[in-house]
Amino acid sequence: MSKQKINKLLIGTNNRGKLREIKSLLPKSIKTYSTSTFNLMSPVEHGKTFKENSLIKSKYFSKKTGLMCLADDSGLEIDFLNKNPGIYSARWGGRHGDFNKAIRRVYRELNKKDKNWKNKKIKARFICALSISYLDKKIACVTGKVKGHISDKPKGKNGFGYDPIFIPLKRRKTFGEIKPSQKYKMDHRYQAFKKIKKFL
Ligand code: IMP
Repeated sequence: MSKQKINKLLIGTNNRGKLREIKSLLPKSIKTYSTSTFNLMSPVEHGKTFKENSLIKSKYFSKKTGLMCLADDSGLEIDFLNKNPGIYSARWGGRHGDFNKAIRRVYRELNKKDKNWKNKKIKARFICALSISYLDKKIACVTGKVKGHISDKPKGKNGFGYDPIFIPLKRRKTFGEIKPSQKYKMDHRYQAFKKIKKFL
């Protein structure tokens, strides 16, 4: 591993929630760039795992800009739904990334599976794969997770995506109710970030 510190980094996401969160985790000494500065669309995610998709994004955005890129691929696994939506988490929101639509689909699928699901503890976890690439070269790729369960109804207006329906282990509030500054210090992205930090 090179000892040279990274001083410029592209954050390879078009998701504003993730961008905000990743920026808050990075050392202030790193100048960050976002995909919107370069007007870049996201690549097609044809990988079969979070890690594969994360690498597709970091390599793609790095090649497009010539900058080293940190990208994330993440999602929610619900055991009762055979780990869905998983890598399809964003896709459950449809073409316009409508998070309310994605949440409605989770409840619809749970109801289809068992009308009585609210009386069960529906175990779930958020997974995040973070990767750093320079052009076509992988510099690092790690994963992090946070365990929890699904709330019987959406609660809270903070965060993004599935935050209003996810209650982390040993808590009563959803990520949508927890303050963002608190969520950022406990979630899947933070766990992955702890592992990738040494490469920055
Ligand atoms: P992708 O990694 O861009 O393919 O999308 C991941 C999707 O997973 C997001 O669009 C969200 O729906 C969901 N997701 C990932 N991380 C979080 C999180 O921290 N909170 C809520 N939803 C998340």
